[in-house]
This record gives sequence, C-alpha cells and structure tokens, in this order.
Amino acid sequence: MITIKSEREIELLKIAGNIVYKTHQYIKPFIKEGITTNEINSLAEKFIIDNGATPSFKGYDGFPSALCISINDEIVHGFPSNRKLKNGDIITLDIGACYKGYHGDSAWTYQVGEVTDDLRYLMEHTEKSLFIGLKQIKPGNRVGDIGNAIASYAAEHNLGVVKELCGHGVGTDVHEDPNVPNYGVKNTGPRLKVGMVIAVEPMLTLGSPEIYILDNDWTVVTKDHSPSAHYEHTVVVTQDGYEILTGE
Ligand code: MG
Ligand code: MG
Repeated sequence: MITIKSEREIELLKIAGNIVYKTHQYIKPFIKEGITTNEINSLAEKFIIDNGATPSFKGYDGFPSALCISINDEIVHGFPSNRKLKNGDIITLDIGACYKGYHGDSAWTYQVGEVTDDLRYLMEHTEKSLFIGLKQIKPGNRVGDIGNAIASYAAEHNLGVVKELCGHGVGTDVHEDPNVPNYGVKNTGPRLKVGMVIAVEPMLTLGSPEIYILDNDWTVVTKDHSPSAHYEHTVVVTQDGYEILTGE
C-alpha cells in the first residue's frame, strides 16, 4: 500500500534523512587506505545513536550490522569485516537511520585514494543517473518515468543497470511500496502524488549487470566481478517536484 505522509510525518522523515546525511559527511574523512569496514561501521553506528536515532538496517531481516558496506564488485548488502580499504578501491556506504519511528535511507559510493579513470567514470555517471531519475519526480508523473530516465542515461553511457534491486517507498518502514525500479516504461506504474516519500537508488555496473549472491545470503556481487556504483537519496514529492530529505 502506498501511503501519503502527513506534515508531521514529513517533519520526522526530514530529521531522519538529515541524520543519514550528517552520518555520510561525518564518515567521509575516515575513508582512507588501511581502515577496516568494521571500524567504519562502528563509527557510523555511534554517530547515528549519538544523534538520537537507531540504525535502520541492523537486525532488518537479520542483517548483522548498522551499515551495508560494499566494495568494488559488491553491489549492495556487504557485511562490515576486518577487510582493510586499499588505495584504488571504491566503497559504497548504504546508511539508514530511524528517528521516532521514521526512516531515512541514502547510499553513496566513495573512492579510496586514487582510482582509475574507468572507476571515476562509473561513479560520475551513476551519480548523475540518480539526479536524472529524480528530475522525473513531480505530481502526476509515474514511477516508470523515473526508471526509464535512469536506464536511458545508463545505456547512453554504456553502463549496466542492476535490475534485481530497486528503490522503494520510505516511512515507518525503511522499505515500503511502491517499488521504484531503475528501468521502466514511460507513463506506466504508480502515479506520484504530493506527500509520497520514496528512495531512488540506481546501481550501475561497468561490465555486465548480472549478479550472484555470496554464501552469507546477503551480499550481491556482479557475476563478472566488474565494479559497481550506487547512489541513493530519499525524497518527498512536493507541488513543484521533489525535495531531497537526505541531502544538505
Ligand atoms: Mg539504502
Ligand atoms: Mg534503499
């Protein structure tokens, strides 16, 4: 069921989204060669709790940690571990925070030290594809318009679109209706209405977008081990378009 959020709910979603944004900003300077993903996870978890929220993903369907941390060919749902970041890696932090029962959700891919031109290209155009998708958000447009814009942009830039995973509604649950796929046909799917809150989150690959799942039953990896990037914002649909809840 797609819900329309009240003004009070949107205020709480803004606070949750802002905590997610601030957590990204807080963690960014720590993303350097030598730090482990466990250390990043612990820093973020403490920061979220110190800001009056709880990590949305910890315990979600049994997920073991506060953040999903995915490196290089890992697309989403990577487990923090004792793995140390290396110069030239790309790392995606998917951060969710719950404030007074309302969630914010935002993923961002960061470079570790210096990365290759190919990786920079992947990051730049995956981030752009998020904003190309967001541009479609206004009352009356449909969910298929978002996915269509993202997939068209990815195709123009020779990047693969991971189809098994998608964006979603956000509210008292971190994953609500509707699904927001990163592909689609214009003018199809649920209609966007003022007060809907959704997360848009393109996951693009340099090689084939085919996936497999690691033995931990969570972590999604590209089959050909090509790198993948992932950018996500939670937004509310407004009269004029949308407002980002997980940004500045
Ligand atoms: Mg997320
Ligand atoms: Mg999400």
